[in-house]
Amino acid sequence: LLSIQGVWKNYHDHSVLRGIDLEVAPHEVVCLIGASGSGKSTLLRCVNLLESIDDGAVYLDGTEITDVRTDPDDVRKRIGMVFQSYNLFPHMTVLENVTLAPRKVHKTPAAKAEAEAMELLARFGLEGKAKEYPDRLSGGQQQRVAVVRSLATQPRLLLLDEVTSALDPTLVMEVLGVIRELKAAGMTMIIATHEMGFARDIADTVCFLEGGVLLEHGPPEQIFTAPENPRTREFLRRVL
Ligand code: ATP
Ligand code: MG
Repeated sequence: LLSIQGVWKNYHDHSVLRGIDLEVAPHEVVCLIGASGSGKSTLLRCVNLLESIDDGAVYLDGTEITDVRTDPDDVRKRIGMVFQSYNLFPHMTVLENVTLAPRKVHKTPAAKAEAEAMELLARFGLEGKAKEYPDRLSGGQQQRVAVVRSLATQPRLLLLDEVTSALDPTLVMEVLGVIRELKAAGMTMIIATHEMGFARDIADTVCFLEGGVLLEHGPPEQIFTAPENPRTREFLRRVL
């Protein structure tokens, strides 16, 4: 579904991604782990074309999305992204937040967009919040709305960047539950996370990044119990 091939990203004279290769299959859940500054967010931003890359290519369903002729808006219709800070529009209700992209980007008629949004909100236990403004919701609820909003365009791929790190521990479970449900529904996801227990639980593949290099990847049982790379072992020894 997604193919990342030899991706380099430089800021000034500093390379923050150094030749990343990664294949993501349909329905696969990939977790990116690694120390702060290892390049997890940058990689997600490059896949979503929020950053340009300096070398390499990214393919989605066989089409090179990093080609200069590709329309980034078209790519973002097919790739949803949720950030650490939920980025809901504060002056819009929950329903308006969720229907914005389908209406503006997909030109879905308002009534249809709203019906689909209500269905999604109901699926995540948020139907009662449709008319509320974001500041009336808890952090966990806001993050669930952000997930619902990213699903409203029916993306092929969902990118999640530290979606629980701004939340109280009690709210973390709520959002992790939503991600588990998405996995059960077959959503393909790439998730940057500092929660090793969650990565171990949900990932099909865990990728360890250090200094912009993908040092090791494999099934969670292997990465967490028998990592081959000494740097991976060192990292896990510190965080587990
Ligand atoms: P964290 O776990 O803290 O979220 P991360 O793995 O997501 O870290 P990135 O945010 O991808 O790390 O950052 C990778 C490197 O790129 C860091 O050294 C960071 O300082 C640098 N970087 C990120 N964005 C920019 C930018 N806009 N300009 C310059 N350097 C940047
Ligand atoms: Mg990050």
